Amino acid sequence: MLLSISTTHHPPSDIGYLLHKHPDRVQSFDLAFGKAHVFYPDSDNERCTACLMLDVDPIGLVRGKRGERTLDQYVNDRPYVASSMLAVAIAQVYGTALAGNCKDHPALVSTAIPLEVRIPSLPCASGEELLHRLFEPLGYRVSVTVHSSNTTGEPSDKPSLFGIELAATKTLSDLLSHLYVLIPVLDNEKHYYVGDDEVAKLMRHGEGWLAQHPERELIANRYLKYRRTLADDAIKQLREQDGESPIAIDSDSPDDPREEATENKLSLHQQRHHEILSVLQTHGARKVVDLGCGEGKLLRELLKQPNLEKIIGMDVSHRSLEMAADRLRLDRLPPRMQQRVELLHGSLMYRDQRMDGVDAAVLCEVIEHMDQPRLEAMEKVVFWSMKPELVIVSTPNSEYNAMWESLTAGSMRHKDHRFEWTREQFQAWANSICSRFGYTCEFRNIGELGTTSDGRDVGSPTQMGVFVRDS
Ligand code: SAH
Repeated sequence: MLLSISTTHHPPSDIGYLLHKHPDRVQSFDLAFGKAHVFYPDSDNERCTACLMLDVDPIGLVRGKRGERTLDQYVNDRPYVASSMLAVAIAQVYGTALAGNCKDHPALVSTAIPLEVRIPSLPCASGEELLHRLFEPLGYRVSVTVHSSNTTGEPSDKPSLFGIELAATKTLSDLLSHLYVLIPVLDNEKHYYVGDDEVAKLMRHGEGWLAQHPERELIANRYLKYRRTLADDAIKQLREQDGESPIAIDSDSPDDPREEATENKLSLHQQRHHEILSVLQTHGARKVVDLGCGEGKLLRELLKQPNLEKIIGMDVSHRSLEMAADRLRLDRLPPRMQQRVELLHGSLMYRDQRMDGVDAAVLCEVIEHMDQPRLEAMEKVVFWSMKPELVIVSTPNSEYNAMWESLTAGSMRHKDHRFEWTREQFQAWANSICSRFGYTCEFRNIGELGTTSDGRDVGSPTQMGVFVRDS
């Protein structure tokens, strides 16, 4: 694993002062997960390149760990790709430069110099586009080489391993801060435990750039491994730094007292919304429609995600749309926010071109409000006509009703529910959609898993299907 940083600044060897590493020497450092070596393959009057080579020891990573050893632990990509370990190596080996210190040439630290970075293998499961979205807003020219198309050999697999070259005129300390934060953001197998101090680290290394970055929420969520409270804390701080006032949050009004009595205890609404936001983030969705948006509780959360460019709420009920407009304070939102959101009166029974081109559609607790014979029309509208890359469907899991004393056997959670499905029924329905319309569905549990007093596993209160369109 190699990180090379070159400059054509005059004299190019200044980079040796900035990095505190002499261009004529090879230096090696012991790290917790292997060794790091710094050397300069080219250094002349025109150009100087410093390489940080990371020699990760995959056996050493496993040594001393408890539990079963699997082949994966020994044979993995860690020695070959830029991972969260590279960020640690940057902090340990180039720590002084990262902090912006240089005692011999203090003026150099704040001088923007022409820099080029090469990372020959950088994993990015979300695809090449995310690399551009992360680095270009910071002023880098980004050039990407696609390495491997996949891990399974299936032609439908998206490329996920890239070589990247970045070029910009910046201070070296800024460049190292960007790499320190963004390389772990791209790594889905981060090796570190995320605790409270990770928020402070993110704030420290993101100072001066992260608050204004259009993908700041995605960056904070991924860097903090989707630890919701930590990510919320970070995002709040970033918004404040950016001079944005947080959107007021009022209490959720219950749709049905019975549903409230049962579900609110677990704040299932919030858990569903958190899961939906995290799935949208992971898939890099930009244009989202909330089908059957009701009073707009989810829309309000979506609006707080700056990386969502367009948010459409659609519902068949005029009254609900009015309440959604109120809840979002649509008339009082700044124009920039107002342009991002649109409320549409419509029906899932009919094809609607106003929603063409969305990346993602959400049906949160909607299907159970429709008569079962009408689902087929909705399926065609969503999965055949609109056919977004991502569809998220959540619905009650009727097996869990046994856990609620307030529900008599066989009754449903809400007076307007036309049906409630067991996990098997929901999965059979979802799988039939996949085979008819070319999607792959992954199932999630939302809320606590339950077991009845006689030991029966009843799953979680809400079940969710995440449908991804086959390419
Ligand atoms: N998604 C919201 C609301 C769920 S309640 C939430 O999670 O809080 C179900 C919503 O679906 C209601 O607002 C209802 O008006 C809407 N709905 C029901 N049938 C519909 C249809 N055919 N087309 C569009 N919306 C519909």
